[in-house]
Amino acid sequence: MGSDRPADEAFRLLSDEIRLDILRAVALAQHEVSGAAVAAPSFSDIYERVDVDNTSKLSYHLGELTGTFLRKHDGGYAFTHAGERVVRFVLAENHRRPAEFGRIDAAGNCLFCGAARLQATLEGQFFMIRCGACDRPAFSYRVTPAQVRAHEEGDLVEAVRGEQAGDFLKMRQGVCPDCAGRLETEVRAIDEAPEYEGLPASFGTFSECQECLRCLGVPLTHAAVYHPESVAFHWEHGVDILGTGVWEFHRYLREGRWTDERVDDDPETYRVDLRRDDASLRLFLDGSAAVTRTERIQRRDHGGGDG
Ligand SMILES: [Zn+2]
Ligand SMILES: [Zn+2]
Repeated sequence: MGSDRPADEAFRLLSDEIRLDILRAVALAQHEVSGAAVAAPSFSDIYERVDVDNTSKLSYHLGELTGTFLRKHDGGYAFTHAGERVVRFVLAENHRRPAEFGRIDAAGNCLFCGAARLQATLEGQFFMIRCGACDRPAFSYRVTPAQVRAHEEGDLVEAVRGEQAGDFLKMRQGVCPDCAGRLETEVRAIDEAPEYEGLPASFGTFSECQECLRCLGVPLTHAAVYHPESVAFHWEHGVDILGTGVWEFHRYLREGRWTDERVDDDPETYRVDLRRDDASLRLFLDGSAAVTRTERIQRRDHGGGDG
């Protein structure tokens, strides 16, 4: 009955084909009735869709699921937040391994050697973009079986790009893209460690969810670029930031068009300059990578305009 089962008990509830069928049946019924997630199929709607011996068996299984994965609603059954997560995961078959795909050419330049020879592959079930010249990684992200199934090669890069941009927008707002818990970010100096050799950036952001421990990290310039002022600035200069993969920003760092610098210790302040054509956007960020001030600099000619 309880809704506060520990994780092992909650998962044990799911280790039963009839119960998974019940969750699928509720989703299917909702989908067919109105496409609305709040539709609540009745006991008899569910009984018609699930292969179960008799009503008392269904009643038992529904009782077990209710409180954790289902809730009573409007004379029927609807999902809880956990049921919603689980049923989408089950329907998309995301417990499987993503289908293999060959090397896909990806736009952008290597952060380390600058070569425009990036290629995406599946590595250890992750989507990985590597440099075809020096073999160093440019970007790595999770990819789901459903994502690979739903997209042809070039489209897959686009799909990962879209998901990554959405996640980074949430990161900027301090919201964990996985659990919606609080994501805390701090600016850190990028190490002198050998794996960072040749990296044209001094600072990076490190974000960590206080609830589910998800971690995300990028160069400081790449985190700053998601600020609305920067999205607008780039849009005006023909670049759609939200339609660009974070690995496609590497070239701006390499070309020296994007720079980062620590400008004050008290309070801790960083400055990021994003240059485009003859204009530039300057952002000031605090120690948690929050933008505190922005400045547009129209003409970067000698001496003037640097404020
Ligand atoms: Zn390279
Ligand atoms: Zn989280």
